[in-house]
Amino acid sequence: MARYTGPVCRKCRFLGEKLMLKGEKCSTPKCSLERKNRPPGEHSKARRYRISEHGIQLKEKQKVRFSYGVLERQFRKFFAEAARTPGATGDTLLILLERRLDNVVYRLGFADSRAQARQIVRHGHILVNDHKVDIPSYLVKSGDIVKWRESSTKTEYYKRVAEEIKQRIVSKWLSLDKEKMTGIVSTLPGKDDIDAKFNMQAIVEYYSKG
Ligand code: SF4
Repeated sequence: MARYTGPVCRKCRFLGEKLMLKGEKCSTPKCSLERKNRPPGEHSKARRYRISEHGIQLKEKQKVRFSYGVLERQFRKFFAEAARTPGATGDTLLILLERRLDNVVYRLGFADSRAQARQIVRHGHILVNDHKVDIPSYLVKSGDIVKWRESSTKTEYYKRVAEEIKQRIVSKWLSLDKEKMTGIVSTLPGKDDIDAKFNMQAIVEYYSKG
């Protein structure tokens, strides 16, 4: 399945929730959902229908998938892995998504959004334990060291981020040396370390039926 390349804000308008997909813009009055809070499409104002239980589960699944920027096929793979792992499948799924390298780059403040983080990883700017890793879905492990490739530290983008990162507070399961712009995965995340509030049980029920 191809990656969605249309306007990102349509995803928020479709779900009626701010998914914070565009970094800084999301916290300003320029946010599209703030300006026109209705589903996308010409006749959207006229749409009035009750959402079924399946619809609620689908919406929750899309919310998580769009937030982490994961394609349906990859998402199903993560779900299958979570289902095979002992413990609550929904929590395990969320933790797997959180361990993705693009998410870690975003959480460390190296990027404004996960989409931007994904691009930084894909373009080979990031090293994990001193090796280039350009796969956004790479899952970090406890003790991994995430930093910038030496040549990438010469870019204007890096210099701006290095300045802005001084104000940054990172997730509890990560630690960040702001001088060296180096992050360490201190421990794997627990479900309570993840600030986003998703109804993961709804997603488990969605896939259990399918
Ligand atoms: Fe969603 Fe951000 Fe666009 Fe607002 S600006 S609609 S939060 S992606």
